[in-house]
Amino acid sequence: MREFDYRRAPDVSGAVALLDDDPDARYLAGGTNLVDLMKSGVERPARLVDVRELPLDRIEPAADGGLLVGATATNSDLAAHPEVRSHYPMLAQAVLAGASGQLRNMATVGGNLLQRTRCAYFTDTTKPCNKREPGSGCPAISGEHHNHAILGASETCVAVHPSDMAVALTALDAVVHYETADGQSELPIGQLYLPVAETPHRETALPAGALITGVSLPRVPVAARSRYRKVRERASYAFAIGSVAAALDIRDGVVHDARLAFGAVASRPWRARTAERVLIGAPATAETYAAAAEAELAAARPLPHNGYKVTLMRNLTVAVLSELAEEAAR
Ligand SMILES: Cc1cc2nc3c(=O)[nH]c(=O)nc-3n(C[C@H](O)[C@H](O)[C@H](O)COP(=O)(O)OP(=O)(O)OC[C@H]3O[C@@H](n4cnc5c(N)ncnc54)[C@H](O)[C@@H]3O)c2cc1C
Ligand code: SF4
Repeated sequence: MREFDYRRAPDVSGAVALLDDDPDARYLAGGTNLVDLMKSGVERPARLVDVRELPLDRIEPAADGGLLVGATATNSDLAAHPEVRSHYPMLAQAVLAGASGQLRNMATVGGNLLQRTRCAYFTDTTKPCNKREPGSGCPAISGEHHNHAILGASETCVAVHPSDMAVALTALDAVVHYETADGQSELPIGQLYLPVAETPHRETALPAGALITGVSLPRVPVAARSRYRKVRERASYAFAIGSVAAALDIRDGVVHDARLAFGAVASRPWRARTAERVLIGAPATAETYAAAAEAELAAARPLPHNGYKVTLMRNLTVAVLSELAEEAAR
């Protein structure tokens, strides 16, 4: 591992000043992703600015009826929060579906959003990778890609975003708040992650040096009946091969409102807006859920070894929506 300078940030503006826009410096939160990448040589920062002790760990109701979540709140605290469990159950379930208890105690909200892909070529510095080294190539496309993207990928990168939390936050229209030397600003989560296009190394729309200070959740009444379902290759402690965050409001047998996002199928959490349009106003039946899933997945462009994800995501979507509908009928 490269030698690095370590500084503990005194406060938010001090953290931003210490990072100083330096492309060779990184914020350190729980370290559960960054330190792993430093050990493998994927990340080689000259300076770490530790933000873990900043007073950004609160989770509190917002004036508009939503919720404010600080960037250094741990994944465990977020999942356990009573407001999250009752008003945004899909979020609590998504967080609990990720990593292990010990990791969730260390991992923070800001770090979770900015964790890097788990593509095995990305983490192996002996291999080329356009995301790690622009222009070097993408061995995944002709090589091992059974867990790679089926939606929104490009000729240069087919990696998927690994976060479970970000999928639920996408379905909930969360807003990401950040600070730079120019002051405070915010981005809807739907605009946080850049389309992969020709520049897979540019992953987010955050300006250089931005410190995420928190995430706000608007009041989303439909989310009170919501669910996150994750499929993985073993029962626990694994990243998703496909996941669905869904919320459903049915009135008089008709879908009144719906939210849907997919995980592990694209370079970013995938908001299934086409499916939502099919759902809203349609009869609340398994046929409607299947039609919605199929409409969304019509844009899928699987590779030779990951076509199974199209069927998986269709079935997962129908199952989750059907379960939510049954729950509503009880
Ligand atoms: C074995 C294992 C299994 C896992 N399984 C899952 C899983 O199933 N699902 C899942 O979603 N995740 C999983 N994770 C990932 C884990 O959730 C992330 O490592 C964690 O959320 C990252 O948070 P952190 O606070 O440790 O971030 P760090 O590792 O400290 O930082 C990650 C990145 O975010 C940046 N950063 C951190 N905080 C800020 C901030 N406030 N502002 C700006 N930049 C910031 C850092 O500079 C770094 O680039 C797993 C991790 C491991 C090691
Ligand atoms: S899929 Fe993306 S991250 Fe993986 S090797 Fe190709 S360019 Fe790199």
